[in-house]
Amino acid sequence: MSCRPLTGAEAEGLASPPWSVDSPEWCEEHGESLSMFCLDDLEPLCKQCAAVSHAGHRVYLLTEAATDCKEELRTSLNGLKKRKTHFEKVTETCDHASRHNQVERQPQTNKMHF
Ligand SMILES: [Zn+2]
Ligand SMILES: [Zn+2]
Repeated sequence: MSCRPLTGAEAEGLASPPWSVDSPEWCEEHGESLSMFCLDDLEPLCKQCAAVSHAGHRVYLLTEAATDCKEELRTSLNGLKKRKTHFEKVTETCDHASRHNQVERQPQTNKMHF
């Protein structure tokens, strides 16, 4: 991402994708409403397209695809958060270990008893 601010046109372009979930367009090839969405190709499909050209792809209903994408986004965000926590824990452990080594350089007297 660049640091320059978005122009009005660019912001508008981001706000309105070429296709809309609310008002589905029609498939030029089959004349059916684009009610499906292929997650592999990231494009809207009609039922015929889904059955013919996108068999084996992850095809969802448009409304479900919107939900699913949100879910994927949330999952990846959670993953990032988890990784951050892990990183902090590792840093903390390293910090603790180095401090421990500096301050208490005594021979270990209390052995583990089972
Ligand atoms: Zn079609
Ligand atoms: Zn596809």
